[in-house]
Parts: sequence; C-alpha cells; structure tokens
Amino acid sequence: MPELPEVETMRRGILAAVGSRVVDAAKIRCSRKPIDISPAPAKFRHRVRGATISALARAGKRVVIWLDTDDAIVIEPRMTGLVLVVDPPTQAHLRWRLSLTGGPIDEVLYWDRRGLGNVRLFSREEFCERFGLEKLGPDALEITADDFRTRLGSSRREIKPALLDQKAVAGIGNLYASEILHVAGIHPLRKCTAMTTRQWQALTAATHMVLEEAVRYEGSTLGDGTYRNALNEQGSYQNKHRVYNRADQACPRCSAKIKRIVQTQRSTYFCGKCQRRT
Ligand SMILES: [Zn+2]
Repeated sequence: MPELPEVETMRRGILAAVGSRVVDAAKIRCSRKPIDISPAPAKFRHRVRGATISALARAGKRVVIWLDTDDAIVIEPRMTGLVLVVDPPTQAHLRWRLSLTGGPIDEVLYWDRRGLGNVRLFSREEFCERFGLEKLGPDALEITADDFRTRLGSSRREIKPALLDQKAVAGIGNLYASEILHVAGIHPLRKCTAMTTRQWQALTAATHMVLEEAVRYEGSTLGDGTYRNALNEQGSYQNKHRVYNRADQACPRCSAKIKRIVQTQRSTYFCGKCQRRT
C-alpha cells in the first residue's frame, strides 16, 4: 500500500498543477526518522526553482512531476506516504513542500507517517535508466496478454507472487493481486508455466477492470485509515473488495467461504470454488 489506484488518484489530485511555476522546494523540519530526499535541499531547490511543471505522470507506484527543464521530481509513497494539496492528517509527519505559482494549486505536500517513502530529483536520462522497461515492466493499466506471457510465461513462480514483481508488470501490489485473480478465476497457487493462453487473456482483462474500477473509487483506505487522496479524503474501493481481507466471509460470486493463505510472507485471499487449481 499504496498501489497503482491510490498513486494514480494522487497524480490526478495534483493534475491542475500542470503549467504552474515552481517557487520553492523545501524539506520540512520533522522530528521523526528522516525520509530520503535527494539531492540535498540546497541543490534540489536550485535545480527546480523557476521551472514550469510540464506534465504529471506515474511510474508504477510513483508520482512523477515533469519540469520543462527535463528534470523529474519522483515521489514514491511506499507504505504510508501521501501527496496532498490541503492540510495533512498530522503536522508532525509532514516531510516536504513544493510551492507553486500561476495556477490553482499553491503547494504540493508530501506527508509520510512511517517515513519509508522518498522524494528524488532525476534528469531525463537518469529517469529513463531507473524506470525504463528493463527496470520497470509495462504499466498494469496498459499491459497486454502478450506482454504478460512474454514476461512471466516461463517463470517457475506461482502467479500471485509473480504479479507483485514490478519488473514484470508495474503497479500491482498485494491487495489488488488477490482481487485481480478472483475476477480472472485463476487460483493464486497456479504456476506461471501452467497458465493457458485463455488464462493470460482473462488475467489481462481482470487487471484492467479491477484497477480502472479502483481508480474510479479513488483507491482503498484500509482499517488503519492511512491512505487519503490529495484532498485528505478516504478512498472508497475498500467497500467493493471481493476477497481481500475477507477470510471466512462469503464469496460475492458463489457464496463459498473465502480462504486466506500465505505466499512469500504475504497474505493471499481467494475463493476455492471460483478459482480452481486445475
Ligand atoms: Zn466464489
């Protein structure tokens, strides 16, 4: 957490900043464990001051603010990071501020309770090196069945942990992997090498459907309440989850009890009736 739908919601939440000019970028004094901000504040500020935001993109689970200088500010929220345009949930965990002029958004804030996220500035060349298709797979909203099969078809892993491999497909995390496999009707323990052409197609369609639906509901705010959109409001896709965190509850499709197993130290939820192993 956050995964593609939450990060895409953050991106859309600051989209109106395109065309605005950067007045300042500042690390905020914070008594908590410091987050990784690079380069150092003075250099960061020097490189972005006066630049205009030319585009807002996403690289997997990161928000990318492109500047007309061809530099990119990359915000990676990791576990508990938020990108905000209003007052944050707490002042104590506010980490970074981008001050803007010339548009409807005066500042973009980065808040992070656990402080595992980061804010980094890259040249276009550095960005392409780090986030090109060799390092980061095709975006999950755009991946094709052929991409999936090419990247995972010969993997000996089980399909569920394989979906979390950002080099294979960018944007899927633990929550949406369970949801996607349920919609696709694929058992999470199925080996990639055993997947049929029809299953890769079903997986692709389910990936797009689930993630697009989750973006429409502005992501999932789980029980800890951490994830919020740019306006510090909850997402609502948690109310639509089919299997995630619903062990022993009824499958919404067939009413069988949802099961929980652990794969590569992470919980997986699925319906043994809708998602057959063979
Ligand atoms: Zn079922």
